[in-house]
Amino acid sequence: MSIPRAAVVGDPVGHSLSPRLFAFWAAWRERPLAYEALRLSTDEFPAALKAARGDGGWIGWSVTVPHKARALELADASDPSTSQPGAANVLLFRAGEAVAFNTDAAGFMAALESAGAPSFGARAVVLGAGGAAGAVVAALRRAGAAEVCVFNRGRARAEALAARFGARAGGLEESAEALAAADLVVNATSAGLSGVSPLPEGARLKAGAWAMDLTYRPRETPFLAQARAAGARPLGGLTMLVRQAALTWRLFYGETLPEDVVAAGERELEGAL
Ligand code: NDP
Repeated sequence: MSIPRAAVVGDPVGHSLSPRLFAFWAAWRERPLAYEALRLSTDEFPAALKAARGDGGWIGWSVTVPHKARALELADASDPSTSQPGAANVLLFRAGEAVAFNTDAAGFMAALESAGAPSFGARAVVLGAGGAAGAVVAALRRAGAAEVCVFNRGRARAEALAARFGARAGGLEESAEALAAADLVVNATSAGLSGVSPLPEGARLKAGAWAMDLTYRPRETPFLAQARAAGARPLGGLTMLVRQAALTWRLFYGETLPEDVVAAGERELEGAL
């Protein structure tokens, strides 16, 4: 019998920690799995998806930047988890069809819960207005956050995202007041990848507030360093990455990974950063 295949599909994708995490879990659970990193340009993505659909060897794909919206468009069917983010980060291949799912929003909530951070009733600020910010705002709204404010470098994009969820919006330079009052600040920008923080000059976080950065490389981003210095409680993006991957594993195998196995996966990746 051939070994079932899965992949993380994106461009670039060489930096992805997913192959290491899935290989670790597959070994731990004694599941046969060949999980690879597949770099596909936006031009190559549709044809590769069509081929994978017709090839019985694939279980599924984890989908990352820049293919999340296109994956949803091209799927034959979609789970309700994709509708609010408007994007898919998982494609399951079943009986010649590709079915789209989104585990980012649930992974974000699971990460907050595992850290003991509040969502219900919280005043939340989300920095960024891309795909990941959309999943975060959807999750916070569903969880009953008292207030959600979205600030982005490009104001128009923040306004468009906030309008979908009845949230407040503005440019990053307008965020100081909301940041100082927030119980939870989520950095959903990719600024950390370039070694900068999206917080405006002189911005203050409330002592004891939770500050979560979705970017997980480097482990201590400039945003998390600033948050820590302000007395806020920092939470890195690795926890969300691992939690959304555990939900993807459940879609692949119909198996909920035990908590100790999920936590061991996170420790495995901490060693890789
Ligand atoms: P997108 O490309 O869709 O959005 C990027 C966002 O970052 C935009 O709002 C953009 O603003 C903003 N941005 C980029 N550079 C800067 C900068 N120098 N200063 C301020 N704002 C900036 O990316 P995603 O939403 O998909 O991903 C965002 C981050 O979250 C990435 O680092 C990604 O790796 C991470 N992520 C982590 C996950 C996890 O499980 N931990 C899951 C998903 C994503 P503008 O609109 O003005 O260009």
